[in-house]
Amino acid sequence: MRGHEGASPRIVTLRGEDGAELGQGVLDPASPIAVRVWCLGDQVRLDARLFADRLARAIAVRGSLFTDGTTTAYRLLNGEGDRTPGFVLDRYADVAVLRLDGAGARAVAPELTRDIEPVLRDAGITTLLEREAVRGEGKTVHVRFGPERTKVEVREHGVPFVVDLVHGQKTGAFLDQRENRRRIGELVARRRAAGLGVRVLNLFSYTGGFSLRAALAGAEVTSVDVAAQAHATAQESFRLAGVDPKGHLFASADAFAFLESAKKRGQRWDVVISDPPSFAPSEKAKPRALTAYRALHRACADVLADEGVFVAASCSSHVGAEDFLTTLDDAALGRSDLRVLEVHGAPPDHPSLATFPEGRYLKLVVLA
Ligand code: SAH
Repeated sequence: MRGHEGASPRIVTLRGEDGAELGQGVLDPASPIAVRVWCLGDQVRLDARLFADRLARAIAVRGSLFTDGTTTAYRLLNGEGDRTPGFVLDRYADVAVLRLDGAGARAVAPELTRDIEPVLRDAGITTLLEREAVRGEGKTVHVRFGPERTKVEVREHGVPFVVDLVHGQKTGAFLDQRENRRRIGELVARRRAAGLGVRVLNLFSYTGGFSLRAALAGAEVTSVDVAAQAHATAQESFRLAGVDPKGHLFASADAFAFLESAKKRGQRWDVVISDPPSFAPSEKAKPRALTAYRALHRACADVLADEGVFVAASCSSHVGAEDFLTTLDDAALGRSDLRVLEVHGAPPDHPSLATFPEGRYLKLVVLA
């Protein structure tokens, strides 16, 4: 690409030096990735039909993943991973929420998503919301079709929870941790059966997904998040699942400050979960992010009981799994009794492309 400075985001055709058409993509002159390529060659056109076809294919792939009906919230379109860069679509029961990432996707969305309503209605979606997060301007939600919805109840492996479609982060919930939330429930159940302690500390708890699974398995849970609104949604989900939130602790606090004072008080937990927001928004921020993970992990290890389990997650796309593991070694943790039992990523409704490692952003490491 040459001479695109000052151009506005739009669909562009890529040509070789000889003028031959190479493919089509979406131009965003202000992005570090100037053109996101959607299709190669001169046969396929980047238009509303191509988008609707890719959406239909993505929905068909999910059809074979959630057959037993116990999970009603999952990702329908995972951006680049479903060959729709910049377009993320999450399903919450009969509501779908579209999130547009970047000025390129926002500019071309009206044209590309023109024909998606019948595809979504076929899949049982009755309301489509569109969420935009424009830096510095906050979030906006608007209805693309169907009756307006602000809150919805969904199930994950049969466990009910509440999704706040207006105030929630991303599209409302973090669906990428679904299988890991289930694993936490199983881990707590196994510990109980073995007569081991089940005091759980869930840091960066958001709407309490890990907390609820742990509580249902019999744990005594402390959830820590700066966002009080997230705790309110978490408590609503607890009640919905038949767990009295009063039996558990919800602390509205900075996780680092909480850990420091817990350490001073000599408090310990048998299971510590850490799932912070991304520490590395860019490749440049990676060294600083690794330092921050090390400090966080040290503080977690300091409050982990003997024979405890430490569950550390990262959603920074610029920090790969091996890099992340270097923030969990003995030197970082300041103790030498832990080993890596499991390393997990996102579930298959969050697909990635083989050549796009940034798409495999989620890491969850279980140490004991
Ligand atoms: N584990 C959650 C997702 C966590 S998202 C789940 O499975 O759904 C990250 C959360 O960290 C957000 O809710 C945000 O409010 C919270 N957060 C960000 N910075 C924080 C800080 N310094 N201390 C505590 N919580 C923080």
